[in-house]
Amino acid sequence: MSDRELHCDACQDVLPFEAPPCVDGHGADCPELVCTGCGAAVLIATVAVRPPRLGQRRRNSRPVQRRAA
Ligand SMILES: [Zn+2]
Ligand SMILES: [Zn+2]
Repeated sequence: MSDRELHCDACQDVLPFEAPPCVDGHGADCPELVCTGCGAAVLIATVAVRPPRLGQRRRNSRPVQRRAA
């Protein structure tokens, strides 16, 4: 179904991960993935993470010049 092939550190290989039975009430949106190879490695999918806003770039090109008064 929603298997994802990811690298498992425990297995040291790329294996399909699948969503475990969720006990936290996430339902279909459960971000947890369990390695089907070892069944131990749990990975939190970061699908809901949005990148920080890159549109607003602050212009900070004012040269800093300090003179001794
Ligand atoms: Zn969950
Ligand atoms: Zn594994």
